[in-house]
Amino acid sequence: MRNLMGASLGLGDLRRAGAWMLLSILWVAAGCATRHQDERLHSTLWVQTSAEYVVSARQVYAMAVEDLGVALRDPDWNVVLEQGDRGADLPPAIIVDIDETVLDNTGHAARAIIAREGFVQEIWRAWVREAAAPAVPGAVDYLRHAEAMGITVFFISNRSRDMEEPTRKNLQAIGCPLRKDIDVVMLQEEQPGWGIDKSSRRAWVAERFRVLEIIGDDLRDFVHVPEDSDDTARVAIALSHQARWGDGWYMLPNPIYGGWEEALMKGEYAEHVSPLERKFEHLETH
Ligand SMILES: [Mg+2]
Repeated sequence: MRNLMGASLGLGDLRRAGAWMLLSILWVAAGCATRHQDERLHSTLWVQTSAEYVVSARQVYAMAVEDLGVALRDPDWNVVLEQGDRGADLPPAIIVDIDETVLDNTGHAARAIIAREGFVQEIWRAWVREAAAPAVPGAVDYLRHAEAMGITVFFISNRSRDMEEPTRKNLQAIGCPLRKDIDVVMLQEEQPGWGIDKSSRRAWVAERFRVLEIIGDDLRDFVHVPEDSDDTARVAIALSHQARWGDGWYMLPNPIYGGWEEALMKGEYAEHVSPLERKFEHLETH
């Protein structure tokens, strides 16, 4: 009797358990599918895990180190377009971007992917406040090399101005040189006219220093790029300065985000437009 009852109850339980198990598997599968569709997964892993990224970044910085001596000795060497003809008698400086140039924020990207979030200001700000981003390979050696040669290092970043303290803390933690007598960390809107476009900040540095090199991960770290520029226009702008690349201007790879991506999205990050759908439209098959 007990066995029969047990068998009968067991069957019912099994059916219910089976249904729940199926639902759970579907739920987990749907969840995994959503998470794995995050467009940043592949690029974030490339930066975090590949030998190819480490070598690419180190190559860029090695080239920049090698050119510093030549640039320093040549009084006519200056690489800021906004500088014009001035600069020969000014003290030497270099300009570097911060995010994905000196600081590696892929930990933030990974958190956003895991949380299934896009770019959320609060998640980003929490990351910045931790001041614990590691260095991009090669960056710190390069900056110390420049400092040892008496070259001032300027950091021009579009982090917001209220993030200066944790940003400085993070840069110091990885061993970046930071001059104390002048403000070398130039963030967005820190002074009137210092908008998202970095041209005005480059001009500010160029009025006071002869800029030997610029390093960044976005075309806008080097040159003004009109806001409505599409991908073709951006490539044309980059190639119109072909002689500078690897000779005063040094570009790091950033496959995760940047002006290249904004150009594809045409500023349409509206909720009803899936970023992946929009990017699909740009695939070239020949
Ligand atoms: Mg950057």
